[in-house]
Amino acid sequence: MSISIPELPTDSTPAEILRAGIEAANGPVSLACSFSLEDVAIIDIAHQAGLRMGVFALDTGRLNEETYEVADALVERYRMKINWYFPRHEDVQKLESAEGLFSFRESLDKRHACCAIRKVEPLSRALKGLAGWVTGMRREQSITRGELKAIEADSLNGDILVPKIRTSAVTSMYSETGDPETYPALLKINPLIDWSGEQLRAYVEQHRLPKNRLYSLGYRSIGCAPCTRAVQPGEDARAGRWWWEHPENKECGLHRR
Ligand code: SF4
Repeated sequence: MSISIPELPTDSTPAEILRAGIEAANGPVSLACSFSLEDVAIIDIAHQAGLRMGVFALDTGRLNEETYEVADALVERYRMKINWYFPRHEDVQKLESAEGLFSFRESLDKRHACCAIRKVEPLSRALKGLAGWVTGMRREQSITRGELKAIEADSLNGDILVPKIRTSAVTSMYSETGDPETYPALLKINPLIDWSGEQLRAYVEQHRLPKNRLYSLGYRSIGCAPCTRAVQPGEDARAGRWWWEHPENKECGLHRR
């Protein structure tokens, strides 16, 4: 089985990108929701456009209380279901027993180990059975996100998650045709790719959407509590994530390229 990536006009709206992505995926599509402004806007856009999309969230065990408040507000407002995924308790127990509660500050390897247990492994379970996943990633967020596309093949997660029979079909299709327009069967849909922070904030205000209270304290990108802080005016939106690391390292493994 293969999926063709639709060609979209460069001025496509988030709703048009979302619709095209969902149609191209031709199977279950779900938003990976961290309750950011981006994710809340996408939920509202899908709702307004009548698009069918699931929502899943990763509870790392280290989230801020304010983040849970947004989750609750969304359930209330849209009468929606959130599929929560948790890390495997035995992995967390082993990590914290061996390394302590803040090992992620000690080195990049230890930070990646924590993200692998609390985020990446649960994500692999969340993506099982999906034909596409939606993210709130935007190009302007940081230097790690400049190469994003509105709809792209997620061959990394796809390779892991597509069942063997589909994977071998894809592999042979690849080698026989070499067709660059056909990809493994997991799409990543980034409907807000070209939105600026200003556009996003205006949409959230205009529609009075639920908003994490931490934004009013200077936070611009919100992840786990111990790895996120407020940023200074003029700083990159993700400067407050893992602020002790170099900017090019600031991904948690959820968005591998
Ligand atoms: Fe662990 Fe921090 Fe990654 Fe959360 S963001 S999983 S606490 S290293």
